[in-house]
Amino acid sequence: MGPILGNEKLLDALFSSIRQNRLAGCYILEGAKGTGKRSIARFVAASLLCPNRNAKGEACLQCPSCRRVLAGNHIDVFELTPEEKGKRIPVSAVREMLRNSYVLPCEGDWRIFILCDSEAMKKEAQNALLKSIEEPRDQTVFFLLTADASRLLPTVRSRAVKFKTEPLPKDVIREALKENKPASEISEEAILLCGGSLGRALEILGDAEFHAARQVVLKYFEALFSGASFTKLCLIVSPAEWSRAKFSIILPMVKLALRDLICAHFGFDFSPEFFTNSAFLHDFAEIISPTEAIRLYEMTEALEGATEQNANLYAMLSTFHLRFQKLTQSLA
Ligand SMILES: [Zn+2]
Repeated sequence: MGPILGNEKLLDALFSSIRQNRLAGCYILEGAKGTGKRSIARFVAASLLCPNRNAKGEACLQCPSCRRVLAGNHIDVFELTPEEKGKRIPVSAVREMLRNSYVLPCEGDWRIFILCDSEAMKKEAQNALLKSIEEPRDQTVFFLLTADASRLLPTVRSRAVKFKTEPLPKDVIREALKENKPASEISEEAILLCGGSLGRALEILGDAEFHAARQVVLKYFEALFSGASFTKLCLIVSPAEWSRAKFSIILPMVKLALRDLICAHFGFDFSPEFFTNSAFLHDFAEIISPTEAIRLYEMTEALEGATEQNANLYAMLSTFHLRFQKLTQSLA
């Protein structure tokens, strides 16, 4: 097994280009969070710079050069990420990165630019990059990593080779977890809910709060499904007992559950992010109309906003319970 799990076709194509000395100047790696975009870009960077490559052209991952690339601090590998999650990448950051690449001395024969969340680049930032992509210098390669390539400018997209990264299949994750964790600690729940990301699966396994919160949300949906009263719902999730911090874990989970219900209702081919019991998911999806699920999703978002401010949580949560409970009354 190579150093990167999954995405074999993509890696074959990239390494075949490296061996034939036909690497493009710019690649877009498009895929969901946790599908290995940055690991792939760093692995290619390490391979271009490693003095001990194997016959396939792959990095040794042991030498000082490889280790610096993997740690994100090799002088010839320029990585750019939004300063904070959800923030834009300003044009000044792109210009500075490009300027440094001209000024700083280099160690290896290659310069590799890795732009994480590249869709976060403002239009001017993408335009600033365009010239470097259009007329790339020799031995230079750009990796634009993104969850959604359609948010990059058409002019940028048309000058890049696009690859899609795929989530890891469940059995690959299961095997990889076995190498990292004792069998007693591995849960099917983590494998199902990690969205094909090994890193996320490991996070879920080690996260006691995640489990506690998930149990509460499951209990809430099960109570709804069995036609529980308003009072009972208030007992499961009550602002009197729950701190704002706890709500900030629970509410995103309610959103994941609702997202699952919406996808199941429309018959999308998707991997559930909350429900591990598909019979329960599909039964519930039949009861809740997509319009109502979307409305509840919006209410959950509003409630999330309210927990961050000092709004009246009690009133908001009561409305929420009532709305949910109204749905299940139609069951009786
Ligand atoms: Zn090496």
